[in-house]
Amino acid sequence: MDFGWTEEQRLWRRAVHDFAQNEIAPRVREIDTTERIPPEIIQGMAEMGLLAPVVGEEYGGAGADWTMAAIAAEELGRADISLAVPVLYLVEAAWGFIFYKYGTPELKEEILPKVTRGEAFLGIATTEPGGGSDILGACRTRAVREGDGWVFNGEKMFISGVRESLEWGGIHLMLARTDPDPEAGHRAFTFFAVPLKETEGITPTFFEDMGRMGISTGGFALQDVRLPAHHQVGELNRGFYHAMEGFSAARTLIGATCVGAAQAVLDMGIDHIRQREAFGRPLASFEGIQFPLADLYTELEGVRLITYKAAWTMDQKYKHDAATHYDIALAAAMAKLRAPLVGFEVMNEVANWFGAMAYTKELPVEMGIRGIRSYSIGAEGTVNIMRIIIARELLGQEFLPTAYERRKGE
Ligand SMILES: Cc1cc2nc3c(=O)[nH]c(=O)nc-3n(C[C@H](O)[C@H](O)[C@H](O)COP(=O)(O)OP(=O)(O)OC[C@H]3O[C@@H](n4cnc5c(N)ncnc54)[C@H](O)[C@@H]3O)c2cc1C
Repeated sequence: MDFGWTEEQRLWRRAVHDFAQNEIAPRVREIDTTERIPPEIIQGMAEMGLLAPVVGEEYGGAGADWTMAAIAAEELGRADISLAVPVLYLVEAAWGFIFYKYGTPELKEEILPKVTRGEAFLGIATTEPGGGSDILGACRTRAVREGDGWVFNGEKMFISGVRESLEWGGIHLMLARTDPDPEAGHRAFTFFAVPLKETEGITPTFFEDMGRMGISTGGFALQDVRLPAHHQVGELNRGFYHAMEGFSAARTLIGATCVGAAQAVLDMGIDHIRQREAFGRPLASFEGIQFPLADLYTELEGVRLITYKAAWTMDQKYKHDAATHYDIALAAAMAKLRAPLVGFEVMNEVANWFGAMAYTKELPVEMGIRGIRSYSIGAEGTVNIMRIIIARELLGQEFLPTAYERRKGE
């Protein structure tokens, strides 16, 4: 067993760290207040190979593996604790991979080079007004085959990057019901690539979020939207399974980026308690400060290990064919369960150490608290859904009749 990095991983971390600290970290407050990621940052990310990095070089991607992708996610989280830039990064990394794996060559040639150059956005749209956790019950958006294409009606909600897609162009991978038979279960859905900007019949909606302000959250209604057949992504009626694969990738990177953001805040806290005095002594000399520091550092290190184990498991699957979908789902769910919760705990405790200053916008900690909460509330699956996935792997399907039937249809 080796807990170190290869030379390639070490150099990659250094390169992303330097870029993120120099180009992104000084602009996080600006990103939070203007609610935009500056184009220079997107351009810099493109030049670094940080846009959809797992996509192959033939489409302008970096051909990175999941460990490299997780290293970058951690460094981006460390630099932008509001998590706006990391969200853009990891949504495109995870779902860009699914599009790269399952999209039609014709559409990939049109879309992916623009995504990797930072000229188009690539997002995911599974959630609907009826809910995000229970995809089977809540996904009502219908896709009906007509002539040589598809016609869509329905609505998606709480979708990251709707404004970006409308402004820059690009696609959202959208899950739609293609088999109306209630008995079809998980085999009733198909993925489609929907370009929000150019497509007629799309009505966007927007939410005012509490955090990660630099990337938008919205939704879109589809009324008699028509798309040609080559916009189908993956096999007919296998969309649910492709979605689960993408979620495992996204959740692994979420683990890494929450670890990075929490580490950045913890480091700020350590600097502060060493120099701030109360009762004639540095705060760091009080056990009431030291003990939570020790506990939280240990928790954070545990989450970091779980997260890199998840990235390693992804590489076992995709590079070595030595892990299954269930292995990656379990590993990623553990990372996604713990990282946002531990990250939030770290930030909340460090806020105490800063006293009143932490409750102001003079300090960045409040941006971190607002941002990281998105990942325990729900983005890419709630904490309870992570628990359901983990319990399903431990107990088997018979104890979890409402979770997806893991052995059926595989
Ligand atoms: C900032 C942000 C960005 C997002 N971006 C995207 C995006 O880009 N694309 C996209 O498709 N979606 C996105 N989402 C939506 C996200 O996937 C959903 O919020 C999430 O899946 C939960 O769905 P819901 O909000 O409808 O809550 P619900 O599914 O209604 O769940 C509500 C609560 O009930 C709990 N619950 C549900 N079922 C069970 C159960 N069986 N046992 C115990 N507890 C249960 C949940 O854990 C949750 O606490 C985003 C969400 C946020 C907050």
